[in-house]
Amino acid sequence: MKIFKNIVILTGAGISAESGLATFRASNGLWNNHKVEDVATIEAFQKNPQYVHEFYNELKKELVKAKPNAAHLAITKLQNEYPADINIVTQNVDTLHEKAKSKNIYHVHGQINQAVCLNCGHILETFGDVDTETVCPNCQVAGMMKPNIVFFGENLLYMDKVDELLRSCDLFLSIGTSGVVFPAAAFVQTAKYYGALTYEFNLEPTSNNFYFDHHIMGKAGVTLPAFVDEMTASLKNGD
Ligand SMILES: [Zn+2]
Repeated sequence: MKIFKNIVILTGAGISAESGLATFRASNGLWNNHKVEDVATIEAFQKNPQYVHEFYNELKKELVKAKPNAAHLAITKLQNEYPADINIVTQNVDTLHEKAKSKNIYHVHGQINQAVCLNCGHILETFGDVDTETVCPNCQVAGMMKPNIVFFGENLLYMDKVDELLRSCDLFLSIGTSGVVFPAAAFVQTAKYYGALTYEFNLEPTSNNFYFDHHIMGKAGVTLPAFVDEMTASLKNGD
């Protein structure tokens, strides 16, 4: 295996599912048994902010308990032991990468333990409850906090940075995300177009996505640690 200099790791719901989190934007249109249009749209938030806050406060209580699994820990090991610039782009709103002590993490769909002040842009970080009376610690205005979750119809976060990372990476790993749905599909295309070697790690192959050079099937908690061991071993062997 060649030595890589810039690595982008994209993670999706599949990596969190192995930590027992199955409560994400599912294909049946439900999120944690709520209709997506009731809890994950700007219209819903404008109409009934308290209801939306309560949903995320409940989700927070669930996610704060979740523990990272072997796949998250393998990414941290790679960051610690492999001498490349390694960035994580995650579609997950949980904080399992943080709990695994990874760094350079970009939550493109937002993260559960943050609220953003619509008055001043301040990001409040807390696993505690946030509601329609929460006062912004920065501008002192009450009632302007929105869960820092990307709702449907909103732009993904950090996209300029992510685009820059994708254009300069020489290795792109996609873990637990279909690779055929936006934004993952666009990410692998960009990485491939700019010359990266591309891998997907999934339970099943994601159609015949020709942007991926390699398809590694199985639980990421098993396949990823083995892959990381192979990468760190290649440093010593110089092959
Ligand atoms: Zn504020």
